Amino acid sequence: MAEQAKTGQEVRGLGSTIWAGIAGRCPVCGRGKLFRGYLQIAPACNLCGLDYGAADAGDGPAVFVILITGIVVVGAALIVEIVYAPPYWLHALIWGPLAILLPVLLLRPFKGVLVALQFRHKAAEGRLASE
Ligand SMILES: [Zn+2]
Repeated sequence: MAEQAKTGQEVRGLGSTIWAGIAGRCPVCGRGKLFRGYLQIAPACNLCGLDYGAADAGDGPAVFVILITGIVVVGAALIVEIVYAPPYWLHALIWGPLAILLPVLLLRPFKGVLVALQFRHKAAEGRLASE
């Protein structure tokens, strides 16, 4: 359910915000494009005009993707080794491409979600009260 923020800008529900981020859509209107390329954030929403200039997910998406990929690939490799004990060349053939493919698939949705959550919570760099 949408709420009304003090600024008059409509704040989408948490589920809608996360879904907009996964889909690479604007965190406010949910329809405009968030990305200009694969990972580059567009300067502004092409539909509602929201300025994405303050959006900066930093290293957050990469950290999540590295951890998730590591858990999935290493865990699956360990289970396959224990259950089937395949030759090492087969491990390399399976887990090598998966270790490349998973980050490629996960990085954009994770960056979209973190940027969308940043807008939802109005997260910004810390400033002194006198500034
Ligand atoms: Zn928009």
